[in-house]
Amino acid sequence: MLAVAERTHVCPICGTTGLPAMSRYPAYVCHGCAARARSADGRPLRFTNQGAWGGFLAAYADTDEPYPGGGRCWIDGIACIADEARFGGIVVQVSAGADGSSPPIQ
Ligand SMILES: [Zn+2]
Repeated sequence: MLAVAERTHVCPICGTTGLPAMSRYPAYVCHGCAARARSADGRPLRFTNQGAWGGFLAAYADTDEPYPGGGRCWIDGIACIADEARFGGIVVQVSAGADGSSPPIQ
């Protein structure tokens, strides 16, 4: 069921090449960039699955408080959106909204 992905994806944040291409996530960022996700006020965020069955949880990485912004985050000042990946885990993509005010949810 899993097709072997071609390693043609380029991280839109840092430009890392050779990442597996995923047609469902054409603008996903690499793990290194996803780890630098910040809230609007610059606090580090952590996105995790709710449990083995999936689900999406967003929290401040520094205090473990729930993050009210959902998947909205910023990496190097670029608006991004994090969500539960279809194949499990978390995927972070550059948001379509360039100004970062209202990235599309879903
Ligand atoms: Zn990157």
